[in-house]
Amino acid sequence: MMNKILILICCFSVFCIRAQKNSMSQFKYDIELKDNPDDVVKVRLKIKNASLSNDIFQFVSSAPGTYQIIDMGRFIKNLKAYDGKGKIIATEKIATNQWKISKPKKVAEIYYEVADTWDADVKEQYFYSFAGMTLEKDHALINSYCIIGYFSDYEKADYKLSFHYPKEWSVGTSAKINENGYYEFNSFAQLADSPFLFGRLSKASFIYDEIPYTIYVYSQNDEIAAGNIKGLFENAVRANTKFIKKRLPVDHYTFLVDAEKFNIRGTLEYSNSSVYVMPEKDLSDTEFHDNIMTDAAHELFHLVTPINVRSEYISNFNFASPKASEHLWLYEGTAEWASDIMMLRNGTFNLPRYLEQLSEKLTISEKFDSKYSISQLALNCYTETGRGQYENIYHRTVIALDMIDIMILDMSDGKRGLREVILELNNMYGKDKPFEEKNFFSVFTKMTYPEVGVFLDKYIKNTEVMPIEKIFEKVGVKYTKERKTGDQVLSVGYELFIPDGKIKIRYVTPELKKMGLEDYDEFVSFNDIETRLDNQAEWLGKFAILKPNESYVLKVKRDEKIITVPCKVITVDQVEKHIFEMLENPNERQKKLQECWTKNL
Ligand SMILES: [Zn+2]
Repeated sequence: MMNKILILICCFSVFCIRAQKNSMSQFKYDIELKDNPDDVVKVRLKIKNASLSNDIFQFVSSAPGTYQIIDMGRFIKNLKAYDGKGKIIATEKIATNQWKISKPKKVAEIYYEVADTWDADVKEQYFYSFAGMTLEKDHALINSYCIIGYFSDYEKADYKLSFHYPKEWSVGTSAKINENGYYEFNSFAQLADSPFLFGRLSKASFIYDEIPYTIYVYSQNDEIAAGNIKGLFENAVRANTKFIKKRLPVDHYTFLVDAEKFNIRGTLEYSNSSVYVMPEKDLSDTEFHDNIMTDAAHELFHLVTPINVRSEYISNFNFASPKASEHLWLYEGTAEWASDIMMLRNGTFNLPRYLEQLSEKLTISEKFDSKYSISQLALNCYTETGRGQYENIYHRTVIALDMIDIMILDMSDGKRGLREVILELNNMYGKDKPFEEKNFFSVFTKMTYPEVGVFLDKYIKNTEVMPIEKIFEKVGVKYTKERKTGDQVLSVGYELFIPDGKIKIRYVTPELKKMGLEDYDEFVSFNDIETRLDNQAEWLGKFAILKPNESYVLKVKRDEKIITVPCKVITVDQVEKHIFEMLENPNERQKKLQECWTKNL
């Protein structure tokens, strides 16, 4: 008993000393963004009062909200450490993201360069551009965790960043600058929570519920101005505020948009801002226009989860060695579900438009492995196979969540749905009050119905075939898996899917089997164009313009051998898939539930 108390006291005093020391230590980074012909960011870190207790200089392996391995150490070059007199201290790269400093107590300065992650030729562990950083002649998009190295004992120390950039550039960020030109943070996590956009930016702002919102846009050819998309962000804020039934939990908020001539679209959430990487397209393109709005709605909903409602794995995020949380269905799934259904419920989308989106999600989800569960893809998101399945979180999960919503509405007789449960969770948990990773499914089941627990078990944790038809019928919507239209269409005679990060072939028709293809052949090339995931646009475009009976040559990999297969375009019956239609004569119960489902209660 006595021993225990003594140990406790010891631990407590050690903790105090460390906490005190960390708060006295200061890490000041000067970041050079100009005169960089090689697109590298040059960083000079000055360390004050540290007399460092740990000798490992660390770069992040991942960051909150990315659910991917980033391994920034791969992009760090020319790292050098100096003592107070400017003498070099020996350093050694000991792991992908770690440099060992030989005399940590003497270190006063560390210099390193960070390569542009968009340009770098990364063959393995490719990660989403919006999670990385880019520096070009006229702009830079910087997720701060990409460029800042740190000592893990000092994650709670003071961090100061100063950026040096061309005079004509402006800065978009939610971080506050002090009178000496430094952005100040009181922990590495807070620093990592603040992205920056620099360059020739347009700016627009609005106030909603007394919260100032600012939009900064870099548009490669000045085709998209902040003022032109302001209304879309405003609508996303309005829809979210109505959906969560209260003022959004921020005192200011910043949208950072990088629009360029590419076919990439991706977004990332932060506590007071969000990053949007998008193609520079004409806003008259309705799909593009709607995407900006729903993407913003998705990012804003992240203020509920995972920024507020989250497991301890996310709350105490380990940047060096991230621990995967199984509850991606909640963080990414509900954000995706909410961003669409809030647009239906505030009248921006009508029901047929919403149903069309569900159909599209089911069609896309078929490209992924139907035997790979949502739980599995969450738990394995930091692995190669998990990454290959990751995107299904935005497709299959949304259908499952719509079904959970309908089940809860049905069983509560229209008094409560998924939205109400999430809002209760939002009140129960908080940034510093995470839920327990291990028992969250049972918490969620207790808050709803045992049937919901069974559903989570069958369709989130496992991969049974979802009873879509039966559940959507409750809200007067008829679901048909597939039906022939009576027309004939051109077909390649197989489907592509991505079971484990590799592009494979399935549903090969008898005609194509005769030509030499087999199910599960791996796609290698199409008419001598290599068929990889990162050059999809190049070869899929060529596929799309094939003519009736046109011949082409595929190379596929089967049992580790490359096989050349001459193929021909064939004609098949046209089949419509995943059709959601409103019932012509819904009964009173269906009408009532549809009313509850399509409105915010
Ligand atoms: Zn998200």
